[in-house]
Amino acid sequence: MKWIWSQLFWKIVGLYAVLTLLALTGLLVALTAGQSTESAAHQSQEVLERLRSIRSELESAEEPEIVLASWQQTLEREGQRLWLVDAEGRPLTHTDDVPPAEITLQSVVQSAIRTGQSSRRIHIRSSDPEVLAFAIDASGSGTGVRVLLTVLSPETLKRNQSQGTATATKAAIAVWMIGVLCVAFVTIGIVEPLRAMSLNLNQSIEKSQREDMLLSISDRRDELGHVATSLHRLEVEREERITMLELAEREARSSSDLLSAVLDSMIEGVVAVDREQRIVFLNSGARRLLGIRTAIGIGHRLYEAVRVPVFLQVVEDALRSGTMETLEYRSPREHTDLVLAVIPILKGPHAGAVAVVRDVSEVRRLEAMRRDFLSGVSHELKTPLTVIQACTDTLLGGALSDSTAAVRFLTQINDQSERLLQLILGMLQLARVESGQQILRLENVDVVTVADDVLSGFRTVADTRSVKLILVATDEITVIADSQAIQTIISNLVDNALKHTDSGGTVTVELVASELSHEIVVRDTGIGIPEEILGRIFERFYRVERDRNRERGGSGLGLAIVKHLCQALGATISVKSQPGKGSEFRVHFARG
Ligand code: ADP
Repeated sequence: MKWIWSQLFWKIVGLYAVLTLLALTGLLVALTAGQSTESAAHQSQEVLERLRSIRSELESAEEPEIVLASWQQTLEREGQRLWLVDAEGRPLTHTDDVPPAEITLQSVVQSAIRTGQSSRRIHIRSSDPEVLAFAIDASGSGTGVRVLLTVLSPETLKRNQSQGTATATKAAIAVWMIGVLCVAFVTIGIVEPLRAMSLNLNQSIEKSQREDMLLSISDRRDELGHVATSLHRLEVEREERITMLELAEREARSSSDLLSAVLDSMIEGVVAVDREQRIVFLNSGARRLLGIRTAIGIGHRLYEAVRVPVFLQVVEDALRSGTMETLEYRSPREHTDLVLAVIPILKGPHAGAVAVVRDVSEVRRLEAMRRDFLSGVSHELKTPLTVIQACTDTLLGGALSDSTAAVRFLTQINDQSERLLQLILGMLQLARVESGQQILRLENVDVVTVADDVLSGFRTVADTRSVKLILVATDEITVIADSQAIQTIISNLVDNALKHTDSGGTVTVELVASELSHEIVVRDTGIGIPEEILGRIFERFYRVERDRNRERGGSGLGLAIVKHLCQALGATISVKSQPGKGSEFRVHFARG
């Protein structure tokens, strides 16, 4: 009964019903009109025929009055009236129902006398309804001019006509209803499968239900059944294709996800562009190294992402030449050293180029350090060796015979040899500390005692230079460390302080203990260090001004050794200084 709700059903059946109803009504109207004319003519013939047979009966009857009376009764039952009248329309036999001799009636009688028979629609009296009046000439019966006259009452006329119309109407309604039922039945046969198919398409997600429906529709052997079967096959094929596509897409997505994850985890930056230099891939390394904003991404032009002309030029060159191009440049914004390699992709759907960027700042820094170290070492070795060579040349050249000069030159050779030895020892110690080869013996170190020992060793030097050397330690300070390392740290810092403090100045070693930390502070009132190079004094062989240090001695390794020892002990070192006023080095041990 689902078809009840079908719009298509009601459209087809309703349209059919309305159209056929209109057609049948028109037909009925036309039929009724034609029938009434025909029936009137037929009735006229019948009446005239009957009048003729009555006339022949009257002519052969012995007692015509009785025959006439009998006919009068018969016709009266049928709604007609019958008279035998003279030329003026007056009745010739006795009758209760005398026809009025109206002009209209007389015209019928006169016409019958003239032509033998006549029929006419007349109003007997103008106020009466219309009747059909029939007359035939009956003068053959012998008694002067006589006419047989009859009239049909309007009721009789109507009854006969409406009977025919009613029958025709009933038949038309029956035919209409049968037609509507047939159309409804056929329409249900079309609508039901169409509804099922449309439902099936709408519920395409519920696969099993759909298949059931399609299969049940495809049981039909007509065109709709074929359509349903084809639709079902299409559905199955579509499902299979979708499943295959989904699988392929899932596989492609997972491998592309893997590739993206791998490329994103790379330290190197990777940017892929097509032939028109439109970005097709960009990893996070590239964003970081090239400073590409998040708003810029796939689909943007390369020049929108990277605004470094040399970079763009190299990509352009690689695309044009079809060969790999490389470039090393310093990023203007990030101030990093970058190496760029652009590899062109010549063929295929992804033709274009891949640019790989690597940050080589650290490599370059280490290279620079190595260079500085080598030149530092060479320089530090060269100076004493040159002095030694000059002294030996002078001695060999004859100064040996002069005992005073010989002693002076040999003392110089001794000093420079000592300097060389100290330099080599310093380098060896630094190398050990840097490489972690120096084995630290961690123990509770009484820092006050160690500092006191170190200062004792420097007393003579301090006195010679007229520099006050003070130890300030209010509490006992114990740290877990290597006592030799602590000694080297204090020793190097005090040595520097004494070297750079002129006579009359003061070098103070203060040991500070608090709840959170222990600190060794070495303070002097010396020449100080310019602020801009404070960060560099811990580098190997770095010296503020070579000329300044020449007379003060030193290899440029002391603070580098201090820094690495502090790192190895888990301590930190900081420096504050004011040129002309003095410097303060602070070694900080966190407690706990
Ligand atoms: P050096 O062995 O030449 O002293 P360091 O590594 O110990 O080498 O020190 C590096 C440089 O830092 C020194 O050459 C010196 O110019 C500067 N410096 C270190 N300590 C002081 C200080 N207390 N006052 C002034 N300058 C200092």
